[in-house]
Amino acid sequence: MELWDALAGLGTAAREAVLAERCLAASVEGDGTAVSLGLREAALLRSFAGAFGARLRCLDDCPACGSRVAAELSIPDLIAVQEAAPACSGRMDLDGWRISYRLPTGEDLKEAAEASDEETAEQILRSATIRQISHPDGEISASDLPDGVAEALAERIEREDPLAAAEVALSCPDCGETWRCGLDAAALFAARLDAWAKRTLWEVHHLAMRYGWREADILAMAPQRREAYLLMDVP
Ligand SMILES: [Zn+2]
Repeated sequence: MELWDALAGLGTAAREAVLAERCLAASVEGDGTAVSLGLREAALLRSFAGAFGARLRCLDDCPACGSRVAAELSIPDLIAVQEAAPACSGRMDLDGWRISYRLPTGEDLKEAAEASDEETAEQILRSATIRQISHPDGEISASDLPDGVAEALAERIEREDPLAAAEVALSCPDCGETWRCGLDAAALFAARLDAWAKRTLWEVHHLAMRYGWREADILAMAPQRREAYLLMDVP
């Protein structure tokens, strides 16, 4: 409930940043801002599972017929994919290029989000992640990488940090269309937290009206006990 209060009034981006920060603080030692985007998603999913259970429900509209389609995901399975990927840095050798890189972090993403256009944002992200480039022709900066090499590097980073840009495969039961939608753990967490907090406040309101109990005492009760009281007949 305290977390819900902290998120109130914030825009989408700020709300998700606060949520990610809290989840990282709970699961990572040291500075959470240096953690890769995939590990940040894993921390959000872990906290989500701790609060609401290990199943994640993902909703999207069918692009062909507009039907609402849901997919149920297992959070432990998603986290296992991330944990099986290498740590946080690596080296790529391609056509004479040798590039040392690290995986992008939440801090890099924040900087890139402030860029005026998409191309500049991509450049910022690339410069932040490349540590060193060597090529037989001499010194080359991150912004002068040929497109093919830059794409190969982006693909490599995506493979090594799978939850950073995770996608869910969906298929429509009404028309058979299949497509993929992005998995945004922070947005799903924020929506679920909001629904939970509103339901809990509704329970507090009704129990306080009926029995005159204090909010803190009602919140301290196990959810099933609150529900049992709410189901009792009022004389
Ligand atoms: Zn459809």
